[in-house]
Amino acid sequence: MAYDPSNIFARILRSEVPCHKVYEDDNTLAFMDIMPQADGHTLVIPRTPGENIHDLPEEALAATIRTTQKVAGAIRLAFDPPGIMIAQLNGAPAGQSVFHLHFHIVPRYAGKDFRMAAGEMADPAVLAEHAARIRAHL
Ligand code: AMP
Repeated sequence: MAYDPSNIFARILRSEVPCHKVYEDDNTLAFMDIMPQADGHTLVIPRTPGENIHDLPEEALAATIRTTQKVAGAIRLAFDPPGIMIAQLNGAPAGQSVFHLHFHIVPRYAGKDFRMAAGEMADPAVLAEHAARIRAHL
């Protein structure tokens, strides 16, 4: 399948759609997931277009995982979760719903399930507060 430049993350990269930004650099962008599976759920994407891990040039992928580590560290300081899950889905059968590569960073708590994917939209004011809390540790 060819990369579709009208996907929602490509539109966020072009600033056509707003997001609650956590971090950006020349190669990557991190922002709050609009339907968080836990408080602090953040997405990290490369600026380079690519549907999944098989399509992205190695350097773009390396930059994305570097940002993922950096932002996960800030989430750890901001939310103090005992665990953090990093997830990256490839293809619809794996659960991928947006076809621009992304890493999920999801805080996890012992004995507590994370919320369903594509569940409830978060209150934008809460997302803005969470983004600010994470940014304060970057
Ligand atoms: P995946 O199922 O791995 O493709 O994950 C896509 C993620 O993107 C889901 O967790 C959605 O909640 C999230 N998402 C979809 N649209 C937006 C948006 N406009 N802003 C932020 N997150 C979004």
